[in-house]
Amino acid sequence: MSRDYKKSLTEPGFGTPSDGGHSHSSVRSVEQAYAAEPSYHKVLRRTRPANTIVAVRGVAIGGKELTVIAGPCAVESPHQLIAAAEKAAASGAHLLRGGAFKLRTSPYAFSGLGEPALKLLAEARRVSGLPVVTEVVDEESVLLAAANVDMLQIGTRNMHNYVLLKQAAATGKPILLKRGMAATLDEFLNAAEYIMNAGNDQIVLCERGIRTFSDFTRNTLDLNIVPALKLLSHLPIITDPSHGTGRRELVSPMAKASIAAGADGVLLEMHPDPEKALSDGYQSLDPEEFAELVSDMARLAPALGRTLTLRGQ
Ligand code: PEP
Ligand code: MN
Repeated sequence: MSRDYKKSLTEPGFGTPSDGGHSHSSVRSVEQAYAAEPSYHKVLRRTRPANTIVAVRGVAIGGKELTVIAGPCAVESPHQLIAAAEKAAASGAHLLRGGAFKLRTSPYAFSGLGEPALKLLAEARRVSGLPVVTEVVDEESVLLAAANVDMLQIGTRNMHNYVLLKQAAATGKPILLKRGMAATLDEFLNAAEYIMNAGNDQIVLCERGIRTFSDFTRNTLDLNIVPALKLLSHLPIITDPSHGTGRRELVSPMAKASIAAGADGVLLEMHPDPEKALSDGYQSLDPEEFAELVSDMARLAPALGRTLTLRGQ
């Protein structure tokens, strides 16, 4: 399925299946029956004009205030997580992130501490005052995470796992939905529709980079999708320039570009000692780089009609 880029993003057509393509008359009536049901509509601004504000333990995402989510790729130890949480809070982050269940490309790579990491996240929240978000990967982790953290993340590898989307939605927790690394805009919005259709509208979309021919970066951060999603959907959209670039030195410029493109915030990997990180150290900011980026974003925010309040300072 491909979209005609000469057609306006806001004209009717989005939300209706465009992947029919069959011209054989015997299937036409089936197609027509399905075409009567739009592929997605709850997530569209056409259906709900006002921005949806997602509330994560008192932090509002999708309003005027930009949101900064920061923390290590994976929870590694109490010392590492508490250090990251304190640095994140002190520099103005709104939420702390940290993976407990890691889906690694290699089966031999560090795959997270599991349930003990959730307890550490809850402890880091107590120490730092920051709400916490972690990725869920199956039904068991959904239930464990829902009992311990404030927001559930669906990773790029699971955006198409509709069973998982419905299980996560059913907890009533806010959901951070990452774009599949090869997902189209329609597929991304359909995944969000699964969550809304399960009765949960507390969804933050996250562009985290897509697969392209370009191989000097881990992924290609698709900033095009940010203003497109702002036009089409009422849901907040943030970006993840850490996974989107895979290169520490590109993270800050692309974070600033993201908010200039209209993103409601950024998700950043930040590690107290990136060289020693058990995963994704090469794309993790150190605390000083992180502090500098947040203060740059705070200075940019007013020019973009936004705010970024440095509460920690
Ligand atoms: C992550 O945020 O740690 C992560 C694994 O991200 P993604 O699913 O986008 O690769
Ligand atoms: Mn990571």
